[in-house]
Amino acid sequence: MAAATRLISRLTLVTGGGSGIGRAVCQRLASEGASVVVADISEESAHDTLRSLQRDLRGQGHMAAVVDVSSKESVKNLVTRIQTHYFQPPSVCVNAAGITQDDFLLNMDEDHFDNVIRVNLKGSFLVLQAVAQALVACGAPKGSIVTVGSIVGKVGNIGQANYSASKAGVEGLTRTAAKELSRFGIRCNCVLPGFISTPMTDKVPEKVISRMKSLVPLGRMGEPAEVADVCAFLASDDSRYITGVSLEVTGGLFIG
Ligand code: NAP
Repeated sequence: MAAATRLISRLTLVTGGGSGIGRAVCQRLASEGASVVVADISEESAHDTLRSLQRDLRGQGHMAAVVDVSSKESVKNLVTRIQTHYFQPPSVCVNAAGITQDDFLLNMDEDHFDNVIRVNLKGSFLVLQAVAQALVACGAPKGSIVTVGSIVGKVGNIGQANYSASKAGVEGLTRTAAKELSRFGIRCNCVLPGFISTPMTDKVPEKVISRMKSLVPLGRMGEPAEVADVCAFLASDDSRYITGVSLEVTGGLFIG
């Protein structure tokens, strides 16, 4: 199937869809024919993304929804709402919701540690579990769940003890899910972005950004669309024999 139509009639859920990488994923999946549920903690930004989506391919119908991925109740409500609206669970899910609350380890508040673990790691668990439960319950023949980790989950990063721990956890979660869910036809893979230009990295001081850029073999920060392209590959049947992997999208940063 041509890349431009390989997601026709696939219902997809994208968390963190209101901004940055999540928004680019929504746009890319919609451009390939998927129906997209744009889920975000911010209703306004989810609707902004929704308005930007292509909707001229066969059977497409998108919706925006509010979710707090760190709340089991909120995630359950979201999946129920999707099933009520579309009469099926999403067979593709990209969990891009995430936060940073950076500080040096010696100063880091317990609250900052807990918040980042709660959204990034527990949130990934709750979304992955709810989508997988819904797919298994309805006997869906296949599913593809993509989590968003980070290269810093592998190599650590000064000022990000909480964030890098959360992202290392997301990789372990994803590999375990891949092992447990493959017998149901559900694949689980993780993308590990490097430094991508989004509102999240807009907060990073310019001095740090230029030092990071100098470490990237390809010599620049990545664009959200470049991560979205990889998510679309993992969502589609082009990756049908791939599960449990972590795919680095870093321009070569920290390859060794
Ligand atoms: P972003 O622009 O800040 O987008 C993240 C989105 O998630 C925002 O819309 C945010 O809403 C939403 N969100 C935050 N908490 C949420 C919650 N509890 N429930 C639902 N939605 C929530 O960041 P990004 O750079 O696109 O990051 C997307 C993912 O890629 C994250 O998991 C991030 O850790 C990962 N990542 C990014 C980079 C990078 O360089 N940008 C590198 C590696 C990994 P608010 O804006 O209202 O908080």
